[in-house]
Amino acid sequence: MEIKQLLNKYGFYFKKAFGQNFLTDEALLDEIVTLSGVQKDDKVIEIGCGAGTLTRAIAKQAGSVTGYEIDLNLREILADSLEDFDNVNIVFKDVMKVSMAEIEKGLESGYTVVANLPYYITTPILMRFIEDAKYVKKLVLTVQKEVAERFSAKENTSDYGSITAAINLVGYAKTVKIIGREMFTPAPNVDSAVVVIDIDRDKFKGVDKLCYREVLKCAFGNRRKTLCNNIMQTFKLSRDVVETALTDLGIDKLARGETLSAESFVKLTDKLLSLGVVFAKSKKAGK
Ligand code: SAM
Repeated sequence: MEIKQLLNKYGFYFKKAFGQNFLTDEALLDEIVTLSGVQKDDKVIEIGCGAGTLTRAIAKQAGSVTGYEIDLNLREILADSLEDFDNVNIVFKDVMKVSMAEIEKGLESGYTVVANLPYYITTPILMRFIEDAKYVKKLVLTVQKEVAERFSAKENTSDYGSITAAINLVGYAKTVKIIGREMFTPAPNVDSAVVVIDIDRDKFKGVDKLCYREVLKCAFGNRRKTLCNNIMQTFKLSRDVVETALTDLGIDKLARGETLSAESFVKLTDKLLSLGVVFAKSKKAGK
């Protein structure tokens, strides 16, 4: 049955509050899964199954899919839409309220996230997988185009920010496809894009991630200020100390946060730790 007919059959109405913009074009959905590189033996997590259109496309190509869906009104629709698949398990829960340990149970050998994310929690969902997940290998996310541009931005651009540097600490992000707004039901006001984030947790092994996060917050806290001024203010250090530290690292004294790569932020984090800077959230604070 056509997906629109299925939605009508169950009297479904779209909820803006849940970011419900569904994809229905089968060729496009298959292409997204192909872009994910998911193979027959792979385990996939989907966040926000909607009417199960992407879920079906994933189930055709992957070993198994665990989907999370917040909207209980989609229960019957999903049962109907996914009745031909025995490798799909749908969890009707707010994914933000499920612990990462529960999400990753049974997935210790690695998994891929494939999702057309609800726009209102795109960044919090991504940050959970970037910061808390242990076994995720890849994230293939359909998000608003502007958000995709921020995720995969290059240094020295206005799109480059703390989220980009946070992603770059553990992986590599690439925007691989633009999806016009007209492909969604209902159509949103903006276009979307598919971003592929390959995770490599060994990329900067040993860095204190909580301190790194605080350094990013500081560096991008006030984008109009120089990095030096932001560091002085946040960590209560003298200009002399900060300028010397930056010069030691080969960073211009007048540089702004958006000019630094993840590697430079890692070095800066280590430098600040070696200077005895007190990081509020880190276990290493005050060392
Ligand atoms: N995957 C479907 C597709 O591509 O057509 C639907 C995508 S739609 C953009 C986002 C879906 O996420 C909606 O079905 C919405 O109900 C669901 N959702 C929103 N917030 C959620 C949350 N906190 N936890 C789980 N699912 C959520």
